[in-house]
Amino acid sequence: MYKNLFLKRGKEESLERFHPWIFSGAVHHIEGEPEEGEVVRVLADDGKFVAVGHWQIGSIAVRVLDFNDRKIDMTYWAQRLQEAYGMRKSIGVAGREGNDTYRLAHGEGDNLPGLVIDIYGHTAVMQAHSVGMHMARHDIAAALLQATEGTVENVYYKSETTLPFKAALGQENGFIAGGSTDNVAIENGLKFHIDWLKGQKTGFFVDQRDNRALLERYARGREVLNMFCYTGGFSVYALRGGAKLVHSVDSSSKAIDLTRDNVALNFPGDTRHEAFAEDAFKYLDAMGHHYDLIVLDPPAFAKHRDALRQALKGYTRLNAKAFEKIKPGGILFTFSCSQVVSKEQFRTAIFTAAAQSKRRVRILHQLHQPADHPIDIYHPEGEYLKGLVLFVE
Ligand code: SAH
Repeated sequence: MYKNLFLKRGKEESLERFHPWIFSGAVHHIEGEPEEGEVVRVLADDGKFVAVGHWQIGSIAVRVLDFNDRKIDMTYWAQRLQEAYGMRKSIGVAGREGNDTYRLAHGEGDNLPGLVIDIYGHTAVMQAHSVGMHMARHDIAAALLQATEGTVENVYYKSETTLPFKAALGQENGFIAGGSTDNVAIENGLKFHIDWLKGQKTGFFVDQRDNRALLERYARGREVLNMFCYTGGFSVYALRGGAKLVHSVDSSSKAIDLTRDNVALNFPGDTRHEAFAEDAFKYLDAMGHHYDLIVLDPPAFAKHRDALRQALKGYTRLNAKAFEKIKPGGILFTFSCSQVVSKEQFRTAIFTAAAQSKRRVRILHQLHQPADHPIDIYHPEGEYLKGLVLFVE
């Protein structure tokens, strides 16, 4: 049976409200010495059972897998992944005509802390952020193939950069089931080459799917700038939406190649599109005033709480440049994917940028992550993507 971990007095309170993390400071002692990644039973100081979860060395000592006293075995993984898939099917994200790109497992949002799985057609890309999930990867892969009812055949494991470095697991990326090289996935009827081998995260930013679809509705007749384009998601939607022209910009020439590739896959030879490998700030400074639809979707400016102030300044500086140049009547889609930046803080940073540019600005939409990236209401830390759609007079 699993080793018992005793909490300090009163530290079970947040767990009774289903918060899935136990910080190392809350741990009184453990019976025996668990290996990193081992499942432990968590008990209150009076010995009352609280939860089972993955033990790890670090500030989060335990990631809770279940609040019932149960075994974490193949039955457990099968059940969790069936729940995750069933939920996506019931809300129309999985098994939808014209779309085979979605997130199957979103960490804490799916009661699977430390695990992310994105689906691209017949291939799942799986990412472990905890040692426990890494240890369980083969069971998880088997459960995932079973849960997805034959729609997924390959599992690519991509955790080289997400696992704690100190755990020294020597993990290499690679297939743990199947091995297909067919990497074209469909999102809302559009085709995308997914580079899970070398791309960022799992190869694609699935979380902007709904926001890209919204942009499409505003694109007709507009001159669009897609800043921080990465794989060109917003650009391809803008082209389908009838944009007059679309310019994609990213500082990485690899991203520019991916964008050109994805535009060609959907709209071969379309001369409305051009892509530029340039720094965002330099490009915004040098560009003219002709765009009337601008997307700003930068990488996370703050990865840690201590970088928060600088990050907020960064969002203000970036957005002020867009406000200065966007045409009257223009629409700005602006995002932050920094988890430590709250919705309110982001909005204040944008407010400051608008005020600096002295433009009249109205909020048309407040955006967030899509339904296949659910937020456990007891784990508000799971909320990370926020965006505003603004009308600039
Ligand atoms: N909008 C994209 C995701 C953007 S990810 C989508 O829908 O998929 C962030 C991108 O910003 C990365 O591709 C990265 O190369 C790019 N980037 C980072 N710093 C940059 C800078 N200073 N100027 C331009 N692009 C930058």
